[in-house]
Amino acid sequence: MPASKKPLTKKRVIFIISAVLTLFISMLYCYVAGDSLNESIAYRIYDTVHNPEEKVIHSHYSHMSYAQRKAVLEQIVIENKNLKGIFYIKDGKYVYSDRDTSINKTVVTDLANKVDEFKNNAVYFYINKKDIYGSPAFIYMFKFGSGYYQMIFYKEAISIPESLFSVKIVSDIDHDILSGKQDIGVKLAHSTLHGVGISVITGITLKHFAYVYLVAFVIVTALMLLLFAFIERVVSRQNNFNIDIRAGLKNNEFIPYYQGIYSVEKEKFVGAELLCRWNYKGEKILTPASFINILEDSGKINAVTLGLLNQLARDKALFDAINPDMYFSVNITINMLLDNAFVASVIQFIDTNPQLDGCLTFELTERDKRFDYISEVKQAMCLLHSHGIRWALDDFGTGYSNLLTMHKLPIDIIKVDRMFISSKNDIISCDILTKIVDLLDTWKLPIIMEGVETEAELSKVKHLSIDLVQGFYFSKPMAVKEFTHYLRS
Ligand code: C2E
Ligand code: CA
Ligand code: CA
Repeated sequence: MPASKKPLTKKRVIFIISAVLTLFISMLYCYVAGDSLNESIAYRIYDTVHNPEEKVIHSHYSHMSYAQRKAVLEQIVIENKNLKGIFYIKDGKYVYSDRDTSINKTVVTDLANKVDEFKNNAVYFYINKKDIYGSPAFIYMFKFGSGYYQMIFYKEAISIPESLFSVKIVSDIDHDILSGKQDIGVKLAHSTLHGVGISVITGITLKHFAYVYLVAFVIVTALMLLLFAFIERVVSRQNNFNIDIRAGLKNNEFIPYYQGIYSVEKEKFVGAELLCRWNYKGEKILTPASFINILEDSGKINAVTLGLLNQLARDKALFDAINPDMYFSVNITINMLLDNAFVASVIQFIDTNPQLDGCLTFELTERDKRFDYISEVKQAMCLLHSHGIRWALDDFGTGYSNLLTMHKLPIDIIKVDRMFISSKNDIISCDILTKIVDLLDTWKLPIIMEGVETEAELSKVKHLSIDLVQGFYFSKPMAVKEFTHYLRS
């Protein structure tokens, strides 16, 4: 291997991604923040100048004596805290003002020069280190009639706020009026205020951009490190879980728990549902909520289900000693049915375990979205049916299949979801349950009521003449020893 090429380590990758990401983020930040600063300055200047300007124009049109005009201008100056004074200049002389001083005097040389520059422009802006009052100001002039108005504002009225960004205020004829401390490196935003004849330009110096970049880089890199650590943890947890599942399968950690199915008429248990439990590393018993989805998504459920069936084949002798007619129900997903290899393994299992002949029911949950593959599903169901498997539709009333779809399938029994009996849903469920029972009666389909927990729920079931019941009221899911012991007692 050539010595010069270093491999890309994880940290290097993170730094490169952060560096590129930071560039985008800091550019975006500068554009958005710069633009908003620009807007706010432009708006402030416009506001400062435009209001008094309108009043001045308005006053000019009214026919007034000199004294009245002066009073009006004086009033405008008093009302506007940014305004120092107003002058109307014509033929090189002050004609009106908000005060008497300087009236009829010749304009100062400096101003005369400005007027020269002003020439044909409608408006003119400039900054004066020393105005007529001897202090710094910014001055706004606009042509009016045969003369022009000069409005003197306090410099602070358009002063630029302290910020990362540099701002320039430029007159229409390209003179700097005010500029920030530094020159503009990267120009970000430009607003032209035609009404008042200036432009506001906002930008950022390269030095300041580097500063923004550096701060963003530290934050982005820290976040990226956290994100990578999180992803790594999730991936490794997922990997560990997959390793655990493989070990669990090898060590037969997936075991059946049995929950009895009780016949109200016969007053005894006639069957049991196999519910998967994970005897995790022999340390604790996990319920399906924490692992069944992963088993189903990864396809490992096929092997687990075959394992459960094999354990049932071994346990069957224990049940035969109590009630040889008991049937057993196993949960199957549509994905499993669509897998020909799985169906073949089940058939092989049935052939090699005659002790289970006629006592196996498979439950297909109505929640499964893949009922779309109805003809393939039906084919597999019929095949298994011909090998003696009965079919139950699980969680009836909760799923995606419509009644028509269901009717096409070789369903032998319906398990009505527990939400229809639960006392928690009392108002809605009772009436619906009556209708479900009526409907299934006309189809001559037997019902198992799931999730009966209380005496009150049981009496509802009895009232509706439902025979088969599964729920905590009669038995919780139990390991085989516990369950057979319970059946005997
Ligand atoms: P499910 O097929 O509807 O099984 C019934 C679930 O309801 C079981 O939960 C059972 O313990 C619970 N249950 C029974 N009676 C009552 C009751 O009176 N009240 C309440 N609140 N709950 C009751 P479990 O064992 O946690 O299983 C949950 C789900 O996991 C099952 O729902 C089934 O969809 C799935 N599952 C379990 N074992 C397997 C399996 O071997 N293969 C597949 N594919 N899924 C399985
Ligand atoms: Ca079930
Ligand atoms: Ca169910």
